Amino acid sequence: MSKIKMNTPLVEIDGDEMTRVLWSKIKEILIEPYVDLKTEYYDLGLENRETTKDQVTIDAANAIKKYGVGVKCATITPNAQRVIEYNLSQMWKSPNGTIRAILDGTVFRAPILIDGISPLINNWKKPIIIARHAHGDVYSAVEMKVNENEKIFLDSDTDKRLLVKDFKSKGIVQAMFNTDESIKSFAHSCFKYALEQKMDLWFSTKDTISKIYDHRFKDIFSEIYENYYKDDFESNNIEYFYTLIDDAVARVIRSSGGFIWACKNYDGDVMSDMLATVFGSLAMMTSVLVSPNGQYEFEAAHGTVTRHYYKHINGENTSTNSVATIFAWTGALAKRGEMDDIPALVNFAKKLENATKKTIEKGIMTGDLVGLFSKEKVIPKKVSSFEFLEEVKKTLENI
Ligand code: NAP
Ligand code: MG
Repeated sequence: MSKIKMNTPLVEIDGDEMTRVLWSKIKEILIEPYVDLKTEYYDLGLENRETTKDQVTIDAANAIKKYGVGVKCATITPNAQRVIEYNLSQMWKSPNGTIRAILDGTVFRAPILIDGISPLINNWKKPIIIARHAHGDVYSAVEMKVNENEKIFLDSDTDKRLLVKDFKSKGIVQAMFNTDESIKSFAHSCFKYALEQKMDLWFSTKDTISKIYDHRFKDIFSEIYENYYKDDFESNNIEYFYTLIDDAVARVIRSSGGFIWACKNYDGDVMSDMLATVFGSLAMMTSVLVSPNGQYEFEAAHGTVTRHYYKHINGENTSTNSVATIFAWTGALAKRGEMDDIPALVNFAKKLENATKKTIEKGIMTGDLVGLFSKEKVIPKKVSSFEFLEEVKKTLENI
């Protein structure tokens, strides 16, 4: 069988620990035998970020800008302990944060649904994709403690001075911001992604209470929808639906799924953990960064699975779930195929996704899924990290 040819390179961004181990095996076992893989490789392993003074992260982001599609392995975000462990000259910033800042993108997280792993909410039949506005608000707020008998003002020029609070006793204050520019990018990314997925888009804030701040989000979304996307939404039979965050939460729980839920920064942070738990596991959650200009970076939502990595380097067998990382590759290959008009590449990606799901549906899975799996006449069997990839390959060659 001849291998599928590619035109434009895929931006391949390698990472750390257990996911780095899985990364090369996924390529070797499931992709390279079938695709004449053309990638531009960036090594974001922590050692190379240190060697290049993190320039490699910036280069990788610019490569996605240039070529349009990237696939990224999970990476360590250093903390004090990692600085010692890797003998770092600096506590390098989160690579995802750096890439997101350069692409100005929005992250969409989608669960991979498997027959046999039921969401804890049993009316959820279709995926719910969450989009988090990862900019500003409480994440870049300034805050302080206040003493008794202090007056705190919000103050840009003395004419417009606003009294926050005349404190009689001790307390706390916080000030936060967002920018129209960032909210607009967020809105464009959400509308574009909804059109592409042909799914309804929901957006929610607390505009009844926050009459200027949250209301600005609501107005910007509404203006952008009316001016740029309304016609396309209508012709694709999908809907833009704005509602108060409280109402959104109630409707999401009662829904059968099948929509994108755009959230402000804090709501998205909290709700994405809730959604991952209800759908089963973080190891079954994919993530895609979509820029307002239509550039894409695919990855798994989980981290580098450190605990498994240390078992692995001690020679112990691991049973680490590679599904979200496989889906990062298939997402990227399908998008590359779509952009370059290579249907064979799109079909291969869909086939590999199917084979991965079918393997689990037959009862072959990594340890994390065994306790979640329940299907009549199928007894789940736990396999190792690498056995799972070999089993997916067998399924792939038989469908
Ligand atoms: P993690 O790597 O997601 O792992 C946390 C725990 O979740 C694991 O110990 C494991 O539980 C379970 N788990 C996660 N993914 C799994 C998989 N694929 N298969 C099986 N089990 C899985 O999160 P973390 O331990 O908090 O972070 C580790 C490192 O990853 C950190 O250095 C962090 O900076 C980085 N990180 C990177 C990204 C990213 O690049 N996108 C995201 C998050 C974290 P058991 O140990 O109980 O089996
Ligand atoms: Mg969170």
